[in-house]
Amino acid sequence: MGPDAQVPTPRGVQSLHFPDAELLPGLVNCHTHLELTHLGGQNAEPEFAPWIRRVRELKENTPHPQFLESAATGLRQCWRAGVTCIADTGSTGAVMEALHDLGGRGIVYQEVFGPDPAKCAASMQELDAAVLQLRRLATAQLLVGVSPHAPYTVSAPLYKAVAEYARRERLPVAVHLAESKEETQFVRDGAGPFAEALRLRGIIVEARHLSPVQYVVKQGVIGRGTLCIHCVQVDQDDVQALAERGATIAHCPRSNAVHRHGRASLKVFHEEGIPVGLGTDSVVSVGELDLWAEAAASGFTGDDAVRMLTIEGARALGWESEIGSLTRGKAADLAVIAVGPTGRQAVLTAIAGRIVHRAGSPQAR
Ligand SMILES: [Zn+2]
Repeated sequence: MGPDAQVPTPRGVQSLHFPDAELLPGLVNCHTHLELTHLGGQNAEPEFAPWIRRVRELKENTPHPQFLESAATGLRQCWRAGVTCIADTGSTGAVMEALHDLGGRGIVYQEVFGPDPAKCAASMQELDAAVLQLRRLATAQLLVGVSPHAPYTVSAPLYKAVAEYARRERLPVAVHLAESKEETQFVRDGAGPFAEALRLRGIIVEARHLSPVQYVVKQGVIGRGTLCIHCVQVDQDDVQALAERGATIAHCPRSNAVHRHGRASLKVFHEEGIPVGLGTDSVVSVGELDLWAEAAASGFTGDDAVRMLTIEGARALGWESEIGSLTRGKAADLAVIAVGPTGRQAVLTAIAGRIVHRAGSPQAR
């Protein structure tokens, strides 16, 4: 590590020069759904509750090999953009396979759904089986976690069961939380489009008289390192509750804008000392995944943007001692970034010292 003149080049070691580019730590994308890469531009539903329903239908109509292809395509796109670490939530296991087969770094949070309290045990059985499969592929740079999806798709008993399971199995947790106004309406008042849809399925919906954050905290889900995705619909008390429990936040401003959820209060998160990383969310929401655009949408430019996309992202994932900066002793997760006519592109991307992308050779392994 250091200026060229000071770094020795041992015999037999390859020396690469990029006079027109910048060497950065690999970027960290704190929220993706890469198994949905094939669904970009497929969901024009303007309202959030029907949009979510439509995503579920589109997924149900997707054959499994397509998810695998999507995950691999999405991962290569990340690498082309200099992203070396992803925190991905999904339900098919495809992203775990892609990361394993292609040699990536990331945390794969297995999603679990189940709004009907009566089906809690079945959901847990399914989750346990999926985690068992994923764990076979886990390594030091490829972690398995769990994600009880969101308050309107997960019953209170299921939240509790997943939280207990995660603690017992020492699995990191990610939750979609306080994203839409409809979610608040659902949790607090037991009303709105999410409540109506569940009642149509014969599921009893209760008003909790709590904010989504307070409600999920009450189920025991939020602990040290729990990655809370979105956190737009929060007040000062909510943010304090997250800070006290050591939660971290994945901020996805462009997705929030597309769905008209509003803007998360980054300033308040920072004041409370919560680690915040930036995430793109899925192509179904934002079109092309572009972390630099997320940084710009959050008001970060220059070195601040780089910091948010690297070390702050690593911190949000609890990975700051291994990645996120060009520091001796950390893994060599690197991106050589050049600014071209189509924006910033990685000329070369390496994960733990292994080149995973090189401009002009899309099949680089
Ligand atoms: Zn998401």
